Amino acid sequence: MRRPFVAANWKMHGTASFVEAYLEDWRKTGPRGVVDVVICPPLAYLDRVAAAWGDHGVQFGVQAVHAEPSGAYTGEHAAEMARDLGATYAIVGHSERRQLFAESDAVVAAKFVAARRAGLMPVLCVGETLAERRAGGAEAKVLAQLDGVLGRPGAKALDADFVVAYEPVWAIGTGETATPTQAQRMHGTIRARLGEVGDAFAQSVRIVYGGSVNVDNAEALFTQTDIDGGLVGGASLDAAAFAAICRVAGRRTDS
Ligand code: PEP
Repeated sequence: MRRPFVAANWKMHGTASFVEAYLEDWRKTGPRGVVDVVICPPLAYLDRVAAAWGDHGVQFGVQAVHAEPSGAYTGEHAAEMARDLGATYAIVGHSERRQLFAESDAVVAAKFVAARRAGLMPVLCVGETLAERRAGGAEAKVLAQLDGVLGRPGAKALDADFVVAYEPVWAIGTGETATPTQAQRMHGTIRARLGEVGDAFAQSVRIVYGGSVNVDNAEALFTQTDIDGGLVGGASLDAAAFAAICRVAGRRTDS
């Protein structure tokens, strides 16, 4: 049985007082034990969050890393630095990074390798645009993004130490969600591709769904066979709502 996984992507939101208030709410409502919960705050708040929350059954991640361990890359941070600040996960290939920061599949693969080099578990985001879905190219797009990493030397030393997040671009921050059937179909396709590496491997990698997940739609999504949890943006900014979503994912373990 794969352990459910839910990550919060705060994106570039939050303030110091937001972090304090969030922790207070999480203390009252946060689930424990049944699900891997990862908070990815802006890097500026990571050490504050990690120091304050270390004993609350939560792990921490960063929203992006640079591929190099150090160098003249003004404004960037290395995976090793994120690790120093308390991260154990790194989101790589988020569609906003791919679109707004021109991260190609090759760059994403290099960042995936960098995260593993630093001992961070990558959360690899893949997903198609609306135009690609309408043109019938959704699966090809997602598999090409996945292959970009699976085919990269250094990523290939594969164990199950990464998470795949299927995030249709048209569902991110739009309030529009893939139907459970659409999402399950894509998750099944991704797992089948992982199965070409090895059956046990494919069965152990968590594949989570992202794209306007909220308290109301989480249950229908997280009860699908191949949906092991979620990557949550907007709804994760409300601690009680995020805790409720985590609890829904935790019920996969109960069933
Ligand atoms: C995300 O940014 O990864 C995401 C899924 O955002 P939202 O939940 O707001 O669609």
